[in-house]
Amino acid sequence: MRDIKLEQESLADRDKKHLWHPLTQHKVSGEMLPIIKAKACVLTDDKGNDYIDAISSWYTAVYGHCNPYITSKVAKQMQNLDQVVFSGFTHKPAIELSEALIKILPEGQQKLFFNDNGSTSTEIGIKMALQYHHNLGNDRKVMLAFEEGFHGDTFGAMSVSGLSVYNGAFEDHFIRVERIPVPTGDNNQEVIDKLKEIIASHNIAGFIYEPLIQGAAAMKFHDAKGLNEILKVCREHDIVRVADEVMTGFGKTGKYFASDYIEEKPDVVCMSKALTAGLLPMGLTSCTQKIYDAFYSEDIAKGLFHGHTYTANPLACSAALAAVELLTSKDIQENIQRISGCNADFVQKLTHHSRVKNARSKGVIMAFELDIKTDRYGDLRNKLFQFFMDKGVFLRPLGNTIYIVPPYVISDEELKKVYAVIEESLALF
Ligand SMILES: *Cc1c(COP(=O)(O)O)cnc(C)c1O
Repeated sequence: MRDIKLEQESLADRDKKHLWHPLTQHKVSGEMLPIIKAKACVLTDDKGNDYIDAISSWYTAVYGHCNPYITSKVAKQMQNLDQVVFSGFTHKPAIELSEALIKILPEGQQKLFFNDNGSTSTEIGIKMALQYHHNLGNDRKVMLAFEEGFHGDTFGAMSVSGLSVYNGAFEDHFIRVERIPVPTGDNNQEVIDKLKEIIASHNIAGFIYEPLIQGAAAMKFHDAKGLNEILKVCREHDIVRVADEVMTGFGKTGKYFASDYIEEKPDVVCMSKALTAGLLPMGLTSCTQKIYDAFYSEDIAKGLFHGHTYTANPLACSAALAAVELLTSKDIQENIQRISGCNADFVQKLTHHSRVKNARSKGVIMAFELDIKTDRYGDLRNKLFQFFMDKGVFLRPLGNTIYIVPPYVISDEELKKVYAVIEESLALF
């Protein structure tokens, strides 16, 4: 039944009554902006204002919102098989997705374990590393991670993450973690020395890392050679290498996976975000045959006893399968190269600006720092956010870092507008 009285109130006011938003301190936040429509690169609010989604809605909708190819595949799947238990049963969308993914995953990946989101994909990566050694009878219970990494909001994922507003209240309950700085090129030898010291004094089971770009640490880049060295040392000590490609995966860095830039390949890969093109939530953790074999046993307790109700949901699988088809198409690959080129040119231009520090890009990801001191959620980011929104561009600065991760289908005109608005924002200071 329609409630006329409720419908007369604004969506923003109705939102306030019962909804609790993520990463939000409601006491100091303004009202939430109702979005009523999304198409390709454009979000539309309840007043009819359009915004270019220059971060692909948290790096998910990279083929454009409501992509007709993906929605048609999911709509078709929806008429046939919606959901079924994945323990004891299997289905074509999951099988076809596994075949398509194995072809594009970093070399050596062989088995796929489904889950629900980025946090659970890393949670399972951590569990695979810990239980791998447990099953082999090794006393290895400590994880290794980068300082300032971000791997999600569940307990294992929080433990290996370094950002304290997210996890400060829970620190007493964390799994054991040792940390190394990211290799910057200049400090590579120090990082390797520290790594060897940690390996000698702790029983390290696995190393979890965001390859080449740490998203939540404000698109912080690190050195590929340095990372390669770290991964090599880990391999030599049978430390399970867990690549968290939740942000970097599926073309954003210019290759299918950021791990493709690095010679040493991971043992485990965590995926989510762009996996389903932003249509449905799903995560995946893949691993090599060697990891899988440590769980393969007559002993039931050696299995990976982890299972989510919606494991391998057929609709999410069909979205992911359609997404892989698009990713590997000539059209999308050309788009990624086009945007990468534009980003590189824009970085060149920014480098000359007096307020810009550390302008950088890799694939469709472009970021720089404003040469102004501020804290992560301070006034500066709010002011910038509002400035961009008023100009019709959705960006989400982190502290003094401005970055873009546009959908691969963004047009030249839209991309030019994003750059122009960013340049305009520099004149504010
Ligand atoms: C977003 C993100 C996660 C967590 O994913 P959720 O789906 O938000 O749980 C984990 N790792 C990285 C690198 C991410 O960017």
